[in-house]
Amino acid sequence: MEQLYDVVVAGGGMAGVIAAVSAARLGCRTLLIEKNAMLGGLGTSGLMTMVMTSRQWFSGFGKTLIDRLIAQGDAYIIDDYPVKDYQRIPFDGEAMKRALDSLLLSSGAELLLYSNIIGIDKENGRITALRVSGGEGEFRISARLFIDSTGDGQLAYYAGEDFDVGDESGNVQAPTMTAYYSGIDFERYEAFLKTFEGKGEGIPKVNMIRELVPKAVADGTLSVCDLHHPGIFRISPCFNVGVMNAGHIYGAECVSPKGLTEATVTGRKMAKEYLDFYRRYIPGFEHAYMTNTCSTLGLRETRRIRGKYITTFDDKASYRKFEDAVMRYDGGAVSDVHASSASREAYDAYYKLFTSREGLREYDWAELPYRSLLAGRTENLLLAGRCVSADRKTQGQLRIMGYCLMMGQAAGTAAAVSTQDIAVPEKINIHVLQNQLKKDGMVI
Ligand SMILES: Cc1cc2nc3c(=O)[nH]c(=O)nc-3n(C[C@H](O)[C@H](O)[C@H](O)COP(=O)(O)OP(=O)(O)OC[C@H]3O[C@@H](n4cnc5c(N)ncnc54)[C@H](O)[C@@H]3O)c2cc1C
Repeated sequence: MEQLYDVVVAGGGMAGVIAAVSAARLGCRTLLIEKNAMLGGLGTSGLMTMVMTSRQWFSGFGKTLIDRLIAQGDAYIIDDYPVKDYQRIPFDGEAMKRALDSLLLSSGAELLLYSNIIGIDKENGRITALRVSGGEGEFRISARLFIDSTGDGQLAYYAGEDFDVGDESGNVQAPTMTAYYSGIDFERYEAFLKTFEGKGEGIPKVNMIRELVPKAVADGTLSVCDLHHPGIFRISPCFNVGVMNAGHIYGAECVSPKGLTEATVTGRKMAKEYLDFYRRYIPGFEHAYMTNTCSTLGLRETRRIRGKYITTFDDKASYRKFEDAVMRYDGGAVSDVHASSASREAYDAYYKLFTSREGLREYDWAELPYRSLLAGRTENLLLAGRCVSADRKTQGQLRIMGYCLMMGQAAGTAAAVSTQDIAVPEKINIHVLQNQLKKDGMVI
């Protein structure tokens, strides 16, 4: 099987779906290739069913998708996020899967699930085809342009692009094995949380965790004293079901099959420990039942591809504007870089950055330049989502789903604009791209 597409999108997470939709809507023959059985990436197979996004700057097709889920009663806004520029929107994972299928297929894009991209063919600095493995063996897919939305920068890696992983020593933000719990009495849980108001320097949940986790470690319920604990998020105000985001798998190596296997096995053990912790220590969870853990391990950080421009934390903190801006995002010196180790020092560094209000301006924004979506050397490769060309602290903020959806739209639209010409994304007329994005609802 060998077919020529205008645009092939690698990876069907939030960034990839919107990239494919954006390219297909503008008339490109577009294919999205996904190795799992579903679209949505970490937002569905990773069970992380809660979009986090900028309150002010979330725009475009991703926002329309989320607004539709809210209108249907399949998502709702929680307005209590400690960093007030952001909002959290829990959603029904099954509704999201159906919505993404429908959005993608109705755009005219084609879809291949169960198809693992295992390599590329490259000539004269351009990818000519993807090598894909499926149930019938290996096959090739050709296209004029490719978008890497694999989260891990897998295509860029195959293409020989430069990249960074984690901090200077290669330590990554620890992954988490998220889980769904049913049977939670949220009213009792919330009443219990209230008792921690003013009992420490943080919000009640932070105070509760700082008090209870050390006790649970001392009595053997938990094996790691991990104070960073996002905790339970109710999926719908109508049901007693929540997603548990707890338990960092410190020291995990998140790229090789060996490292991922070890982390996944450890994560499953930790998920059970957290269930025991909640049942034992937290009122409202006595009858909680862990219905499932995620089928794709929750990876926060793998490869950051070095594109034409590496967006820096200084750009974000100083609200820098760019001629080739393709989206707005929240500025200021705040980011969500989870620790790589369980030490108190690492936790304090995370907490300081996460709660920083330094240089915060109301009604101002940082801008992502188009060049951060362009691979460094491969002429016909764009990047979108978690593997964006950004430094570590900026990736810590751009990796949230709201921004991944927006990056997807920018990359997919850019691909469509470039296929109308010589299919070299670096050479497009940036104003044509920006005007198209604005026409399609993006605030730039
Ligand atoms: C524990 C945890 C909690 C989080 N909490 C939140 C939160 O509350 N709110 C929020 O907004 N964000 C949260 N995030 C971040 C967010 O979920 C992710 O960063 C975001 O979903 C990434 O989207 P993406 O499209 O870039 O990549 P992904 O979701 O990783 O999608 C990449 C897709 O590419 C596919 N793929 C990869 N390699 C190949 C290949 N070789 N061949 C074919 N397909 C391939 C994968 O199967 C996957 O479907 C959290 C992340 C984690 C890990």
